[in-house]
Amino acid sequence: MARKIGSRYTAHQILGRGSAGTVWLGEGPEGAVAIKLLREDLASDQELVGRFVQERTALLSLDHPRVVGVRDLVVDGNDLALVMDLVRGTDLRTRLERERRLPPEAACAIAADVADGLAAAHAARIVHRDVKPENVLLDMQGPLGPGGAHPALLTDFGIARLVDSPRRTRATKVIGTPDYLAPEIIEGLPPRASVDVYALATVLYEMLAGFTPFGGGHPGAVLRRHVTERVAPLPGIPDELWQLLLQCLAKAPASRLRAPELATRLRELLPGLAGIPPLDIDEPGSEDPEDEQDAAASGGQEEGLYPPVAPADAAPARGAVPLVQGSVPDSNRETHTSMRVPGPDELAGGAHGTARTPRAAGERRAGSARHRSSPEAVRKRRIKLGAAAAALVVAAGLGGWLASGDGDHGDAGPGIEQPDPAAP
Ligand code: ADP
Ligand code: MG
Repeated sequence: MARKIGSRYTAHQILGRGSAGTVWLGEGPEGAVAIKLLREDLASDQELVGRFVQERTALLSLDHPRVVGVRDLVVDGNDLALVMDLVRGTDLRTRLERERRLPPEAACAIAADVADGLAAAHAARIVHRDVKPENVLLDMQGPLGPGGAHPALLTDFGIARLVDSPRRTRATKVIGTPDYLAPEIIEGLPPRASVDVYALATVLYEMLAGFTPFGGGHPGAVLRRHVTERVAPLPGIPDELWQLLLQCLAKAPASRLRAPELATRLRELLPGLAGIPPLDIDEPGSEDPEDEQDAAASGGQEEGLYPPVAPADAAPARGAVPLVQGSVPDSNRETHTSMRVPGPDELAGGAHGTARTPRAAGERRAGSARHRSSPEAVRKRRIKLGAAAAALVVAAGLGGWLASGDGDHGDAGPGIEQPDPAAP
C-alpha cells in the first residue's frame, strides 16, 4: 500500500497514529524516513498550512543527536506531511505503560538525553512546550547506555502547538494533558525555557514513581496542584536525586536549573544509581478502601498514623480535592492524553476527594487532609477553592492558549522566544 508523498517520498507502512495524524515508515532520496501525514482536517486548514510553511525554517534548523530531526515539510495537494529522521524503537509512554517504573539509573539516563536535546533547542531560541513521554522516542537500535537505557530523542517541536492553535482548541475543547504544565503558564506568564525543564522533571518523576507529581482527577484540580501544592516525596529515592527533582519542579521558574546544567547533574548521579531497582511505591489512589474507612472512623488520632500537620504558612498538604462535584480522582491514561477545558459552572463545584500521597508499598496509608478536616477547615478550604476556581475560569477562557502556551508571540514560530531564551 505504498503511497506517494510529494515528488520525493513514498510512504510504505504505518508506524503509529498520533493526535495530529499518522506516522508512516517511508523512503526518500536519502533512504528510510518517518513521514507524519497530518490529519485531513488539519491539512485542509489553509491558515494552519500557512503557519506550517512559515515555521519550516525553525523546524528544519534544529540539528542535534538528541532531537528527532525534521528533514522536510511537504505540501502536496491535500497532503501535508512532515518528513523526519526515522527512529527505530518506541516512545517513552509505551515503555512506561509496559514497565510502570524504571530503575533510577535508566530514568536519569533518559532524562539526561532529553535535557541535552532541550539544551540545544534553548540555545537556538526554541522552547519545546510539550515535553511529555509521548514525545520522547527511544532508539532501540542505538547503543545501550547506563541502566540499559536506549538513547532517547525528543520529538514534536512546535507541532502540538500548531495543531492545538487557540482557534482550533476553542472549537473542539480538547487540549493537551495538564500533567506537565509549569505553574507560571497556568498563572499567565509567557512560557520560557524553564517550562521545558519543569516538564522534563515531571517526566523524570513519572519514570521513577509510575505517576506524575500533580496528575490525576479533574484537569482543573491538576492545574491547581501545579500552582499550590508541594511535590510528595518518593519513599526510597536517593537524596541527591530528590533534591535535583525538587529544584527543577520549583514553582518559581528562576529557581530551576537550566537544561545544560540539569543534563550534567543527572550524568554525575548515574554512577551512584547503578544497580538500584525501581522504587517500590504504591500508586496514589490505590489505597485499600477499608484503610480509608478505618482512618475516618478513628478520627485520625492514632500515633504516627498521620504525618505532622504542616505549619500554617506552608503549602497545602498533598490532598487531591477535585474542584468539580462528582468527579473521581484517577490516574488513568485517558486523563493524561486528552482533557476538556472545564466550564465555569463545573469549576464552581464543592470540595471532596481522596488524598494522593504516595507511599512505599506495604506501608499503611499515611493519611489525608480530608480526614483531619474540621467543618471550619472545610469552610476555609472552600473559600480558597472558590478563589482558585475563579482563577481557573479565567484560565479556561484562555483554553487554547493554555493548550499551546500561545499567549505571547502570535505568529513568531514554534515557541521561539523573543528575548533571552535561556533565561528562566
Ligand atoms: P502526534 O504528535 O500526532 O501525536 P506522534 O509523534 O506521537 O504523533 O507519533 C505517533 C506514533 O508514531 C508514535 O507511536 C511514535 O512512536 C511513532 N513515531 C513518531 N515519530 C517517529 C519517528 N520519527 N520515527 C519512528 N516512529 C515515530
Ligand atoms: Mg506527539
